[in-house]
Amino acid sequence: MEILWPYENGEVGEFYYARYNHPAIAEVEDALGELDGGTAVLFPSGTGAATALALSLLRPGDTIALAEGAYFGTGRLFATLGQWGLRYVEFDQTGPLPEGVQLLWLEAPANPLLTMPDLPAAAAYPAPVVVDSTVATPVGLRPLEHGADYALHSATKALGGHDDVLLGVVVCRDPAAADELRRFRALTGISPAAEPARLLLRSLRTLEVRVARQAVSAAIVAERLATHPKVSIVRYPGLGSLISFDVADGDAARRVETSVRLITNATSLGSVGSLLESRHRWEGDRIPTGLLRLSVGLEDPDEIWADLAQALDNA
Ligand code: PLP
Repeated sequence: MEILWPYENGEVGEFYYARYNHPAIAEVEDALGELDGGTAVLFPSGTGAATALALSLLRPGDTIALAEGAYFGTGRLFATLGQWGLRYVEFDQTGPLPEGVQLLWLEAPANPLLTMPDLPAAAAYPAPVVVDSTVATPVGLRPLEHGADYALHSATKALGGHDDVLLGVVVCRDPAAADELRRFRALTGISPAAEPARLLLRSLRTLEVRVARQAVSAAIVAERLATHPKVSIVRYPGLGSLISFDVADGDAARRVETSVRLITNATSLGSVGSLLESRHRWEGDRIPTGLLRLSVGLEDPDEIWADLAQALDNA
């Protein structure tokens, strides 16, 4: 491979040190920016992306309004950032927006309760608006087109899609905001490595066909779940691969979880293989004890349903 780092005739080139930039990072950022219609900045994980964005935009004493029921780890991250004087409040993203905060953090749709925010109302908000659209992917939703300032993804999920990458991305509407985030990334060292970026680039080639197939299969499975006598609630907003549904209680959820054979028990989503888990083990009382989160993969939807149906018969 060509060595790109040395100076030429005493001049520093575009790529001089990997913490600042790397050809593989630049290439995948171009592709991610195109997908979401903005300027992408890559991070070592979705959580790293959220940390960098919050710390670079805010100052001690500032408040983040976080959508209730958003990814559990995002609330835990913001609670941790309290050590540095950042505050956060939670609000119901299906209702009115809270006033007077310095950053609005929405999730579209929220994982795993699958609520959707009011994006037109958020577009008029006076402070910066972040939409975590990990679950929808840019195939299902492009938040910047709806007026958001930043779209955020855990690329560990559907963008990577093969359970072999840990990465995150912030896509900025304003290229100057992306420059600022890149500067912050380099100075704090929250910089991604080149190898996972190469894997992500490979994955993006199939993103559209993967997500399209997953969405068709998820709609089929959600419809069948809704008719099953052991299932009380099915949540599927029609975006991406994620469904959540409720069975009677924690014991029933455990029986369904441990009875599936084709579907794997694991805590991720957006992968080529279908994944199922009870979320109560992680999130406690904010989640119904009988809630199961299903990420629909690329298997035949009839086979996914047959596996779920035999597991539900055991519940
Ligand atoms: N955002 C959402 C919606 C997620 O589901 C996750 C992880 O599950 C994250 C962010 C955090 O991403 P990562 O695990 O890549 O840090």
